[in-house]
Amino acid sequence: MKERIYTIPVTDAFREDCECPLCLLEEKLESDALEYTLGPSMMESDSRIETNRKGFCSRHFTKLYNMQKNRLPLGLIIDTHLVEQIGIIREMTEKSLPMIKKEAAATAMERIAGSLKKDRNETVQFINAMIEKLSNLEKTCTICEKIDWNMEKFTDVILYLFFKEPDFKELFMAKKGFCLPHLKRLLEGSLKYLNNRNRSEFIIALMSMQLTHMDRIREEVYWFTQKFDYKNKDAPWGNSQDALPRSIRKIAGPADLVR
Ligand SMILES: [Zn+2]
Ligand SMILES: [Zn+2]
Repeated sequence: MKERIYTIPVTDAFREDCECPLCLLEEKLESDALEYTLGPSMMESDSRIETNRKGFCSRHFTKLYNMQKNRLPLGLIIDTHLVEQIGIIREMTEKSLPMIKKEAAATAMERIAGSLKKDRNETVQFINAMIEKLSNLEKTCTICEKIDWNMEKFTDVILYLFFKEPDFKELFMAKKGFCLPHLKRLLEGSLKYLNNRNRSEFIIALMSMQLTHMDRIREEVYWFTQKFDYKNKDAPWGNSQDALPRSIRKIAGPADLVR
């Protein structure tokens, strides 16, 4: 039996009526991770080492700030993150500065010679190294990585239960498909966790369900647009009243949409 701490939330999420049970799992992981970041994680030196090094993506900085609480922990996390990042950026800059100054003071002849061998130009090398450093920092997020690690476990458990628990398979097949990012995750998971025979069986089930429900949601959006035609003014909304937020989530995954 796969780890129960992952099985229970998976089964609970698949029992909910929703456009994507994996979105429910991810949203829960995200809110737990946000709470944890401003709470217990503050006291753990390993967590602080991680947030100093990786920081957060823009989405998660925004969410941490918008929680409007625990301002002191957030301030402390940002303070030590900045100390570490400024240290790295300053060290890289100071190491290259003497050569960059030399290139700034180069004579016209030296510059012409230098432009012929751009890859050996210290200023260009410094710029590329700094771009790489900043790109890496932009890509890392303590919260995204935590969510991703757990979502991987959930994916493994879903694929396991699909073949081991007939009740779960039935639950799975009664869903309305998945959002596209989580469809992708299940496809990736099937490459990783299933043998050839099971993979083919799973893909047939998954894709037929997915397409049925993509057609369904497209029709709901279409009817939403048709309701703006005065001819349809008095026609019933059906399921289309909230078709926009549901279709956006179907396409893009978890999204904070203002109601
Ligand atoms: Zn989803
Ligand atoms: Zn993030």
